[in-house]
Amino acid sequence: MTSGTYNRPLPNPQPEWDYYWEKTKAHELWLMRCDDCNRHYFYPRAICPNCFSRNTRWARSSGRGTLHAFSIVHRGPTPAFADHVPYVACIVELEDGARFP
Ligand SMILES: [Zn+2]
Repeated sequence: MTSGTYNRPLPNPQPEWDYYWEKTKAHELWLMRCDDCNRHYFYPRAICPNCFSRNTRWARSSGRGTLHAFSIVHRGPTPAFADHVPYVACIVELEDGARFP
């Protein structure tokens, strides 16, 4: 899938992600939070991956965190990324507790 002059693959939107993408367009980071185990998690889904509760909701993240891991990509994973290397892929441990790619 392409859009405008952006010629790299785009995510295939799933309904669970609608709120996330809506807030991302407003430059806000929102994560799912479980009110039973009081943990944030990413990626969005209705059931908590920690305790399997459905008592979950969206919560705004500060976006602050610590770099957990990174890799400098020198060879694009697909031809669509071949002209966009090198780039950094990373995982951030958000202060909210979730790891965010
Ligand atoms: Zn939970």
